[in-house]
Amino acid sequence: MSTTTPTPASPTPNTPAQARLYQQLRSHLAALKLHTAAEALPTVLDTATAEGLSLTAALERLLALEIDATEARRLTSRLQFASLPTPATLEDFDYDAQPAADRTLITELATCRYLDSATNILLIGPPGTGKTHLAVGLARKAAEAGYRTYFTTAADLTARCHRAALEGRWSTTMRFFAGPALLVIDELGYLPLPAEAASALFQVVAQRYTKTSIILTTNRGVGSWGEILGDTTVAAALLDRLLHRSVVLNLDGDSYRLRDHHARTDTLRRTTTGNTRRPLP
Ligand code: ADP
Ligand code: MG
Repeated sequence: MSTTTPTPASPTPNTPAQARLYQQLRSHLAALKLHTAAEALPTVLDTATAEGLSLTAALERLLALEIDATEARRLTSRLQFASLPTPATLEDFDYDAQPAADRTLITELATCRYLDSATNILLIGPPGTGKTHLAVGLARKAAEAGYRTYFTTAADLTARCHRAALEGRWSTTMRFFAGPALLVIDELGYLPLPAEAASALFQVVAQRYTKTSIILTTNRGVGSWGEILGDTTVAAALLDRLLHRSVVLNLDGDSYRLRDHHARTDTLRRTTTGNTRRPLP
């Protein structure tokens, strides 16, 4: 019985014929736009020779480098498209500071499985309680997992829809907001929305309904959405679609933004109390 030993890959060229072949291989890789593989070719061939790798193993190593580079490029472009407003991640979310945030639930959401069932996430809570942080963290996870993700605010989305209507680009804009697997709509309720905004928001939510997910953050309980949108019927129809398949996270407590401010004030108060001056009120 014959045994097959792995054929080592060719070493770096040392004859004119080998050099020609090597150059041809490099230009094949470049013509196919496998630029990372083309660049790594000499190193991979040298290591293949040094380690006695089979041709299969050497080719696998070369193409794996190209795949890694392609993946990295795609991730960069997904993150660029996502337009995340801050570098926040789920990993740097401090659960001790926000006991209302269910760590088990957020860890489950971080797997992005909710996106496959077009489940929406509603983050409700007063300012500074980590709504945008969690929305950005979840959006980042989605982009990293390969989902097309887009972050916007309620004010920006509705302003863009309004402009699009005036400029005859309504259907293109609707298609744009229908596209991403995950659409984050931040800060509903901070600014009063103009009359036509409610119907724009409704159409965006309605066209994504049962197909793709929305993460929406708001500082107002769903009971006051009629007021925010200036139309209780539209608000009810919008909530109906948004909440039909959804996860609601209610955040509460003090503003995380003001913690540093409070800490500084406390330090200042202690310092001044130690002095002969009157303490700060
Ligand atoms: P909201 O959107 O609810 O108004 P943000 O998410 O913008 O609040 O939070 C305000 C700031 O505080 C941000 O810089 C955010 O990263 C930070 N922050 C809020 N909550 C937490 C938390 N639990 N852990 C870490 N950082 C937090
Ligand atoms: Mg916010």
